[in-house]
Amino acid sequence: MQLEYHCLKGVDFKGHEMEVFRTVAEVQEKCEQIRFSGKSLAFVPTMGFFHQGHLELMKAARKIADKVIISIFVNPTQFGPTEDFETYPRDTEGDLVKAREVGVDIAFVPSVEEIYPEGFQTMVKVQGVTQHLCGLSRPGHFDGVTTVVAKLFNITKPHVAVFGQKDYQQLTVITRMVKDLNFDIKIVGVPTVREPDGLAMSSRNSYLTPQQRKSALCLKKSLDLATEMVSRGKRKADEIKRAVQELILNHPFTKIDYVSVCDPVTLENVDVLRGNTLLALAVRVGKTRLIDNCILSPSGPE
Ligand code: AMP
Repeated sequence: MQLEYHCLKGVDFKGHEMEVFRTVAEVQEKCEQIRFSGKSLAFVPTMGFFHQGHLELMKAARKIADKVIISIFVNPTQFGPTEDFETYPRDTEGDLVKAREVGVDIAFVPSVEEIYPEGFQTMVKVQGVTQHLCGLSRPGHFDGVTTVVAKLFNITKPHVAVFGQKDYQQLTVITRMVKDLNFDIKIVGVPTVREPDGLAMSSRNSYLTPQQRKSALCLKKSLDLATEMVSRGKRKADEIKRAVQELILNHPFTKIDYVSVCDPVTLENVDVLRGNTLLALAVRVGKTRLIDNCILSPSGPE
């Protein structure tokens, strides 16, 4: 079944109507109407292929604002030349059904040409916090993220935008951009949603073979190990990192991209844990690159 993206007015799910737009002009006008009517608007940008993590962001958005808009856009400028832009999983029609079910009001589903028309030549770059973690292993990635998010913010002009803490550095980078460029938007972070066995939900989990899926549990296991070490009084970052690396490499198919123990605001490495500290991981399981993180609290859980 081919959905009419242009405007899906009249589609009713449990009494809820969701409109779907694919042009900037139309969605901009719609969002303007919402603002003009005095209603608040929360925005959830995504690359689609929805899992429960995405849906929790939308539910959080619903609680915060009168109207919820999502975008589904696999953004080519945040993928490196050897990365998985072409093969990134896509299921727009299934996504629209799920979004409607959780009460999203508007879905923006633009084409690449709509976002990057001929002649496009502007990029938004955040400096400091992009120079760590994924910024090192994925050069240019965050420039793509900040550019598309800045565009989407200008298109939708939301009061609030909701992001997942699973992509901790992305949340940090966007928060920085919003502050530095005076976007009048409140950024809200939602805790990571996990599978029952602990694996952080991710669209890329669909790449994993059953054996790799088992190995992928090493990410959450190593976050738990580090948390336990800190609760036993360990404070040296090197000691924690070594234990985490060893645990990960004891699982088949794994290759460590980074294990970082760092300041949760600046993302700079720390040697000794004093206050809340971020443990962030990027691990390849087979060809699939997975990330996860947690806050280590030397003074006990917050
Ligand atoms: P993506 O479609 O991967 O670009 O993700 C869209 C938004 O969903 C981002 O703000 C992500 O941080 C968030 N997200 C992805 N996976 C999860 C998860 N497991 N839990 C919470 N948020 C998530």
